[in-house]
Amino acid sequence: MEKTFDPREVIEEFELLSKDAERVQTETLRKILEENGGAKYLQKWGLDGRTDPESFKACIPLVSHNDLEPYIQRIVDGDTSSLLTGKPITTISLSSGTTQGKPKFVPFSDELMESTMQIYRTSFAYRNREFPIRNGKALQFIYGSKQFKTKGGLAAGTATTNVFSGSPYKKTMKAMQSSCCSPDEVIFGSDFYQSLYCHLLCGLIFWDQVQVVSSTFAHSIVHAFRTFEQVWEELCADIRVGCLTSRVTVPSVRTAMSKLLKPNPELADRIYEKCMGLSNWYGLIPELFPNVKYIYGIMTGSMEPYLKKLRHYAGELPLLSADYGSSEGWIGANINPKLPPEAAAYAVLPNIAYFEFIPLRENVMSQIQDNSESTFSSMEPKTVGLTEVKVGEEYEIIFTNFAGLYRYRLGDVVKVTRFHNATPELQFVCRRNLLLSINIDKNTEKDLQLSVEAAAKLLAQEKLEVVDFTSHVDLSTEPGHYVIFWEISGEAIEDVLKECCNCLDRSFVDAGYMSSRKVNAIGALELRVLKRGTFHKIIDHYVGLGSALSQFKTPRCVGTNNREVLQILCNNVVQCYFSTAFG
Ligand code: AMP
Repeated sequence: MEKTFDPREVIEEFELLSKDAERVQTETLRKILEENGGAKYLQKWGLDGRTDPESFKACIPLVSHNDLEPYIQRIVDGDTSSLLTGKPITTISLSSGTTQGKPKFVPFSDELMESTMQIYRTSFAYRNREFPIRNGKALQFIYGSKQFKTKGGLAAGTATTNVFSGSPYKKTMKAMQSSCCSPDEVIFGSDFYQSLYCHLLCGLIFWDQVQVVSSTFAHSIVHAFRTFEQVWEELCADIRVGCLTSRVTVPSVRTAMSKLLKPNPELADRIYEKCMGLSNWYGLIPELFPNVKYIYGIMTGSMEPYLKKLRHYAGELPLLSADYGSSEGWIGANINPKLPPEAAAYAVLPNIAYFEFIPLRENVMSQIQDNSESTFSSMEPKTVGLTEVKVGEEYEIIFTNFAGLYRYRLGDVVKVTRFHNATPELQFVCRRNLLLSINIDKNTEKDLQLSVEAAAKLLAQEKLEVVDFTSHVDLSTEPGHYVIFWEISGEAIEDVLKECCNCLDRSFVDAGYMSSRKVNAIGALELRVLKRGTFHKIIDHYVGLGSALSQFKTPRCVGTNNREVLQILCNNVVQCYFSTAFG
């Protein structure tokens, strides 16, 4: 495939698929149900070999991960009968778990691998038309997690690990002229910080060949260059003498790096001069890597809060958001790379899954009542098909794929921005679950983000920034109140932080929240400032649980049941303020 990769052909293929989206969807469902008709799950619901959308929707219920967990657990434990799919599931993905609190198992399959490659190829073809790259390398901040065998002997790893370690990935990257600078030993190294250090080192060694700086989620790029600020002199020293710092201890990583690292005092001088010449690290990326054409990674949704810092490091370089998907399966490709990340939308590939959408406007009441993870108990909302969605409307997304998920509620809310031929382009809005709710107040991740953005403007006047943030509903006081945790880039004076705290409180404009605050049915919002490095500790915690950094998303709300993370947060509070915004 790598020899015959022709972006024009890929575009042509997507044009045909998207023009014929309705038929392709029906066909895709038919294929999925034919291949998996013998699965006990489908038989249980009486589908009886039928493959048309109407029978499918009438028989099979909408489900969340919780509903499928007993089936998945049996597969994980070694049940090889056809539970969810016709042919046995041999690989399991461990989702990042940062959106749900705990990692969850989902089936992985060759078809998922292939659809991942299709998404990569498709967005690349459109991207390369606007931002062509030649033969070169990509500085990719990607990290494999440990792969292990489940009790039943299935291979398990995070979805990104399953993808990165497969041969189709390498072939596709090569075909896209974006082979990773770093050797596999670095990507799959057992110590995340050592891998990050070596990624930076590899990028610097191949500095003039690097054309793209990327990661799965943009957070990893910001995190990498924040780390660069701390370790750049050590990197220079390694390059000068051609010898890796003794802080990198993993033997396989040391061996792999020793093959790349040669004494290069000129390069060390060059990096030193560049770094000394920068003002507050503005434009660091193009300064280090002058041939980079763009920065690439998922930049929407919970990645938006990192865009400001990313722009700072990127200087004038374009930021291009990568595609939209999940461990459970891919959804859409970014085929309008020129749009800024804030406006990025993803065109759905109609042949990778069968998609349905729950219109949120009509289902507002049921959505509010149904904040539980299980959907069996509630009245089933009505869905519309891929080609029936309307521009401007918001939907919860549902999919049925080749890997044993049927009418699966991913938990994401999307907005249709326009159609590309007959397939919609979706903007990611937020996770469906409410984040902060005490009584009649309802605030989502997006509401929290907007409130933090508003208050961060006050900090910006002091030349300070919010490094990262999360929240918690504290019901241990009467009445309960919202707690916002902030890690800040430096020391802010008390008056500014008090103002930030009031601003956070005032910026939750949800009517339920404001009215509850006015009558003190919700207590004053509390801002807790954290020690520098607290969010690193949280990353370490998730990595320790088996999550891969590549898929890490800071949990934006930490519940009391997420005891360890809450403990890390509470143990690292250095200052705390209560809002006086409501008197
Ligand atoms: P994971 O648990 O790592 O599989 O993460 C999947 C989730 O990440 C999705 O359900 C979304 O909530 C989020 N996500 C993935 N891609 C994007 C994107 N392009 N924009 C915003 N959020 C995304």
